[in-house]
Amino acid sequence: MKSVTVVKVGSLRDADPAKRGKIEVRDIPEQQLGDEDVKIKVAYCSICGSDPHLVENIFGWETPFGLGHEVSGVVDALGPKAVKRGLKAGDRVAGNFLKFCGTCYYCQNGQQQFCENADEYNRPGMSESIVWHESQVYKLPDGVSLKSGCLLEPISIAVRMMDKVGMSLGRRVAICGGGPIGLLGLQSIKMMGATSLTMIEPLENRRNMALAYGADYVIDPAADNVVKASASIPSGRGYDVVIDCSGSPKAVRDLPQITAKGGGLVYAAMYPNDYEMPLNLYKYCYFNEISITGLYVAPYAFPRAVQIMPRMKLDEFTGAIFDIDDAEAAFAEHLTGNRLKILIRCNKLDIE
Ligand SMILES: [Zn+2]
Ligand SMILES: [Zn+2]
Repeated sequence: MKSVTVVKVGSLRDADPAKRGKIEVRDIPEQQLGDEDVKIKVAYCSICGSDPHLVENIFGWETPFGLGHEVSGVVDALGPKAVKRGLKAGDRVAGNFLKFCGTCYYCQNGQQQFCENADEYNRPGMSESIVWHESQVYKLPDGVSLKSGCLLEPISIAVRMMDKVGMSLGRRVAICGGGPIGLLGLQSIKMMGATSLTMIEPLENRRNMALAYGADYVIDPAADNVVKASASIPSGRGYDVVIDCSGSPKAVRDLPQITAKGGGLVYAAMYPNDYEMPLNLYKYCYFNEISITGLYVAPYAFPRAVQIMPRMKLDEFTGAIFDIDDAEAAFAEHLTGNRLKILIRCNKLDIE
């Protein structure tokens, strides 16, 4: 089967072709269907902001390795013991690319995100088919298309983000970074009663999307000083909740300054793994008592992500579609930042 494969690690943006990473579509064997497994014919797999970082080899994998964890598709076959979730052939599904083992210390301690065996079923989703354990597979709600369905995984991240912010009705909220996760987070926290909801984002079209999804204010960090602009927005006392979805070392240093006393600051993106941020502990942690946290993956979030999906506005996330044969062009387009999200069509299916 066809699968989008990293054949050389390195930054896809590297100006030097000798150092630049490379992906190509390769023919790889299909995975074996185990007794408790589900084989899915993949409809769409969207490109995640983390995918180019995988090509840079942040996890130190050996090439060749596959990409893709934001998958939707149709159930093709079920193992004889994949009977616990009522799935059947033809069901429209999406899922969690990680299978939490349920047996290790962390799984049994309510911390599946740290599962020591979670990669066992972490398989390349930008492929014509994928085999997952039944526990990873979720039926899409009626009315959620396969195109939108591949966003279940990023929506699960937005749900987990909400779990970490300590939200309550009326809190003043700022989100830094209007990419897919930032805009899904914005839609989520709007539903939870955010006020003075502010998107900090340099691209005009993304600021406009934020306004359309319910932001009260937008700040362009390329044109305005974020700290000054923030001070004029809510009550002048900063935001009770600040969430970084930018992953940008340039953007993240301002955020403790716009967080209100006693507020919460969530660094919710993936960061360059050698970046270290100076932080005045006296000012922010001692004197202002702000709580700082982050997040890695999204356990316990998928059932709620399924519930919330039909309420999300997703049309602008699913407009750019490339066939799997054009995966290289799809990644090139992703890197331009012109598109909010890019979907790889892995099979042409006759259902939506
Ligand atoms: Zn992702
Ligand atoms: Zn585990």
